[in-house]
Amino acid sequence: MAKILLETNELQKEYRKKRRSLLAVNHVDLKVEEGRTLGIVGESGSGKSTLVRMMAQLEKPTSGEIYLEGRAYSSLTKKDQWESRQKLQMVFQNPSESFNPKMRVRDIVTEVLSNYGKIRREEKETKARSLLEMVELDPNFTSRYPHQLSGGQRQRLSIARALSIEPKILLCDEATSALDVSSQAAIIDLLKKLQKRTGVAIVFICHDMALVGNFANDLAVMYRGNLVEYMEASKLKQEAIHPYTRKLLASIFSLDKAPDADQVEAPIKNPPRELVEKIIQENQMDSIDSQAFLQKIGPKHWIACS
Ligand code: ADP
Ligand code: MG
Repeated sequence: MAKILLETNELQKEYRKKRRSLLAVNHVDLKVEEGRTLGIVGESGSGKSTLVRMMAQLEKPTSGEIYLEGRAYSSLTKKDQWESRQKLQMVFQNPSESFNPKMRVRDIVTEVLSNYGKIRREEKETKARSLLEMVELDPNFTSRYPHQLSGGQRQRLSIARALSIEPKILLCDEATSALDVSSQAAIIDLLKKLQKRTGVAIVFICHDMALVGNFANDLAVMYRGNLVEYMEASKLKQEAIHPYTRKLLASIFSLDKAPDADQVEAPIKNPPRELVEKIIQENQMDSIDSQAFLQKIGPKHWIACS
């Protein structure tokens, strides 16, 4: 097994608004491994962004813990937090929102290095050019402004800025969702290439099952804040069991867009424990590996049951 870089343990995030409370993330246990891509899929509102924002230390969990290379986030001093943030870099859906429109490409792409005091002013142009080349952008773009680039080019810029500091983990939150199909494919090809070269682990959040299923090594399926199935992406079509995973799979083959989680009429239920136990027996696995809410039904396959 590849080295575990990040681990979440019974991670929970509750939002309170007046008297109502919402469990955006409910007891999620996940691992991020070196050199691999973890896909997180689920309809809008299922808690994907909240989960990844906690991983990036942009948001504090209500309970549970995150371990980065074995160290608990809750044990980090302010200085340690700042240092460890280098190891996880994020790429968002709309890169324009994270770019200062008055900054040139040269300064945008070297911004993280500057923040960490890892680059001198006179080194910026050379470094910027090599970072642009890394993401297959024209190095002569250094003097441009972000609005002079296309959506796909801006997303490449965002990836270059994130990778400039050589993070261990790249967190992509719907990073390709605003792009057309061919730009999406090109960005995914690029991410694969960069991963091969650097070994960076990727967490790729996406509401599009077809896209993430093809790209990720491991797949976590979220439904209303819960992790309902976790498995190797290559086995998705043959071995996915949870009704919600099956529903997402079915939607790949239909032209209708899957409805938002809030608009689903009947909530999807976890399969009954008896069914899951039967699968475990058929797979000749001796005992139920009891993670809090998930049951192990294969060497690398967990499912929520009731
Ligand atoms: P996803 O990324 O899967 O679309 P989110 O993590 O953005 O889901 O949201 C999960 C749930 O938490 C949603 O119901 C959303 O409305 C709610 N939520 C997210 N952020 C906040 C916040 N800052 N305050 C209150 N509720 C929030
Ligand atoms: Mg989101």
